[in-house]
Amino acid sequence: MIGLIAATAAGRRAAAQLAEALGSDECRLYESGRYEGRVGDAVRAAYAECTQLVCFLATGATVRLLAPLLAAEGSDKHTDPGVVCVDEARRFAVALTGGHEGGANALAARVASVLDAQAVVTTATDATDVPGLDTLGLPVAGDLAAVSRALLDGEPVRLVGADRHPLPALPANVSADAPASAPTIVVGDALASSSAVPTVRLFTPSLVVGVGASKGAPEEEILELIRTTLADAGLDVRSLHSLASVDAKAEEPGLLAAAAELGVPVRFFSADGLGAVAVPNPSDAPLAAVGTPSVAEAAALLAADASELLVAKRKSTPEGRAAMATVAVARRPLRGRLAIVGLGPGARDLLTDRARAELRRASVIVGLDQYVDQIRDLLRPGVRIEATGLGAEEERARSAVGLAQRGLAVALIGSGDAGVYAMASPALAEAGADIDVVGVPGVTAAMAAASLLGAPLGHDHVSISLSDLHTPWEVIERRVRAAAEADLVVTFYNPRSRARDWQLPKALSILAEHRDAPTTPVGIARSVSRPDEWHKVTTLATLDPAEVDMFTVVTVGNTASREIAGRFVTPRGYRWQG
Ligand code: SAH
Repeated sequence: MIGLIAATAAGRRAAAQLAEALGSDECRLYESGRYEGRVGDAVRAAYAECTQLVCFLATGATVRLLAPLLAAEGSDKHTDPGVVCVDEARRFAVALTGGHEGGANALAARVASVLDAQAVVTTATDATDVPGLDTLGLPVAGDLAAVSRALLDGEPVRLVGADRHPLPALPANVSADAPASAPTIVVGDALASSSAVPTVRLFTPSLVVGVGASKGAPEEEILELIRTTLADAGLDVRSLHSLASVDAKAEEPGLLAAAAELGVPVRFFSADGLGAVAVPNPSDAPLAAVGTPSVAEAAALLAADASELLVAKRKSTPEGRAAMATVAVARRPLRGRLAIVGLGPGARDLLTDRARAELRRASVIVGLDQYVDQIRDLLRPGVRIEATGLGAEEERARSAVGLAQRGLAVALIGSGDAGVYAMASPALAEAGADIDVVGVPGVTAAMAAASLLGAPLGHDHVSISLSDLHTPWEVIERRVRAAAEADLVVTFYNPRSRARDWQLPKALSILAEHRDAPTTPVGIARSVSRPDEWHKVTTLATLDPAEVDMFTVVTVGNTASREIAGRFVTPRGYRWQG
C-alpha cells in the first residue's frame, strides 16, 4: 500500500490525481485535515500502515518527521520504506529513502510520469547508470556497500560463476579475470564461505527439491528436512527455485505450507510420469501408496529437467516415530533468456516501459544498426552490441538464439512490433525448448499510422506486405484479391521501393475492382512518430504512388470508409450511423 500525504490545497489536488492514476487498491490518502491539521500524525499513521509513502511536503519537513521513525530499533537501510517527496509546484518527485530495496527510485519515476514532473534519484548506482547489485533480480547477500563502491569507482571487481545465470550487462571493470584479491561477486547456489576480500553473493534460482510426504506429514518436519539437506550439501536455501511432488499430494497441507513458508511454488507430476524416470533409489512403499517407485527423486529430476541428482533421497528423522517425509535435490541446467523486444515506430514515448526494462535486463543486444541507434542511450554500460546491416535477417536470428543457448541474456530488437514482418518468427523457428523466451509487444506501423490518419481500422482489417523478397508475388496477389472480395480495410507494409515499383499500383487496382475509387479513402503515412513524419488522406482514384516509399504504410478503406473533416474513418458496422 502506498500512503499519500498532503497538507496543502495544491498537495491535495496532486495527491488526488495520483490516487486516481494508481487506483484505490494500491494507495490510501492521508490528508492532514483529517488529523486536525497535524501533518506529523498523518506521516506517522502512513508510516505504520504502508510500505511506501509519497509526501506532498518539503524534503526538510519530511526528513524531520521521518528521522525518528527511521532511527527506531531494528531499522536499517534494508527495511527503510520507499519515500518520495513532491514539491508544491509538482515539478520534482524526489526519492528520499529506500531507493532500491524500498522501491523509491521506481516509485519516483512512476509519480513523475503521472504528474508530468521530473524524477530525482540520488542513490549512486542509479545516478551513474551502473546497475545496483540489488536490482539484478536475484537474492543478494554480503558486503554490498564495499563491492558497490568498487563497482562505481571503476576498480577491478572479480566475477565468479557468471556462467550460471543469464545476468544483465555489468560494467567493464567487472570481469572473471580480475585478481583474486579484488572485491568479488559470486553467482551461484553454494553456501557462503568466509572470504578475505569483500564479497557479494548473488543466488541463482537453480535448486529443485523433490518431496515425498505421507498423509498428514507436518510442515515442520518437511521444512526441517529441506533445510538440513540443502545445508549438508553446501547449498543455500535462497537458491531454491521450486518444490516438486506427485499429483496425489496436491492438497497435502504440510507440503503446501512448507512451500509457502519458503516462498516457492510446488509442481506436481502424475504417478505415470514419475514412474518413467530412472532413479538411483526406487522403493516399494510409494509404489503401493501412490503408484510410482519414486516421488522425491523422480520429481526433482523431472521438475529440474536434469539427468542426475545433487542429493539422493533422504528421509526425515523425527524423534520417536517413523519418518513422514523424503527429499532429493536436483539443479536446473543453465537456461539462457531471449527477449524479443518491439521498439515502437520511433518516438521515445511510444517505447513501452517493459521494452525499456528488457533492454536493461540484457547483456547482449542483437539488431539492425538503425534500431540499435534508436535506443543506444538506454543501454547499460558494458552491454555487448551485435548490430548488423539490412539483409542479414536469418543470420541475426540465428546469432541471437545461439547466444541465448550459451546461457546469456539476449535482447533481439525490432522496430514497431518485433513479431510483425520482423525477427520473432525466424528466431523462434531456430529456438529449442532449452531457452526462455520473453516477448514484448510494440506499437506496429499500422497502428501508429492509423492514429495519425483518423480511425481507419474501426472495422475488420488486414495487413499485407508487398515485399516479394520472401513471398512469391502470386501469393501476395491472391491475398490482396481475397481482402478486396471480403471488403477488409487493408494496410500495406513494405509498399514500394526503387526496385519494386509496380506492386503497389497493381494491388490498388485489384482493390479498386471491388470499391468505388473516387470515394474510398486511402491514407499514406511516412516515418510515423519520427522527426520527418508526414501523412495524407487521399482516395483510391487520386493516390500518387510516387509519394510512397519504404518508410511508408498505405491504408485503403473498405466500402463504408469515408473521409470526414480531413480524417479517415471506417464505421464500426454497417448498421451504425444509419
Ligand atoms: N516490425 C515493423 C514492420 C517491419 S516491415 C512494425 O511492426 O512496424 C518494414 C515496413 O514497416 C516499412 O517498409 C514500412 O512499410 C513500415 N514501417 C515501419 N516503421 C514505420 C513508420 N515509423 N512509419 C511508417 N511506416 C513504417
